[in-house]
Amino acid sequence: MSEVMMDRMSWVDYRSRIEQGNAVVFLPCGSLEQHGPHLPLGVDAMLSTAVAREVAVRVGGIVAPALSYGYKSQPRCGGGQHFPGTTSLDGDHLSQVVRDVIRELARHGVTQVVLVDGHYENQWFLIEGIDLALRDLGVDHAMRIMRTEYWDFCTEEVLGEVFPDGFPGFALEHAAVIETSLMLHFHPELVWMDKIPDVAPVEFPPHDMYPPHTHWVPTSGVLSSARGASAEKGALIVDAVCAGFADAVRREFGG
Ligand code: ZN
Ligand code: MN
Repeated sequence: MSEVMMDRMSWVDYRSRIEQGNAVVFLPCGSLEQHGPHLPLGVDAMLSTAVAREVAVRVGGIVAPALSYGYKSQPRCGGGQHFPGTTSLDGDHLSQVVRDVIRELARHGVTQVVLVDGHYENQWFLIEGIDLALRDLGVDHAMRIMRTEYWDFCTEEVLGEVFPDGFPGFALEHAAVIETSLMLHFHPELVWMDKIPDVAPVEFPPHDMYPPHTHWVPTSGVLSSARGASAEKGALIVDAVCAGFADAVRREFGG
């Protein structure tokens, strides 16, 4: 199998991959954010990279190094900014980094880019970066960009198997069953199963407050328990997500 990780290629090998045409470059977008006492701070970058890598292998793509810092953690989907370790960017800075990276890829001759978001709070700032980059490149440029939260490729069928008692929704899935199962699949040495807090899914009101009400968030930082997580569920999720994701890439970019 040829190398898919851009930072492990020489520039000469990278150039020849781009010159073959039709190369799809994946840009994983993560965060440095608390993920409960049982997972490391880098989960979002690790998982978006791991998923991007699996999909890149299937479609013959290249994975650029992840953006390891993301937009500010929000209480109702990431626990919030008040945890030690959570280290976030201003939205404009994230957008500008995305804009710069896309512009540089375009300079290399890349015309197909996939942003793989692993941190929900990044969403609109990634979209802004994409929009600014496309405006820089001009309407006649061949650049096309796909953007997704990778977990949206999870099928109803798989969610039914992973959550036999009902799915609490992706927002509460922070450091919970999906991320913990995926970490057990990709990086089992970085999951501390004996530290999983046993909490009921948090019930948030349908609004936010600023400054945030930190008392809305459990002190563990976990929004629903990861007790039901397993490596088997991780493999199930990975298979479904990567199959759906690879199909979408082929549909949009051909090959
Ligand atoms: Zn996460
Ligand atoms: Mn996150």
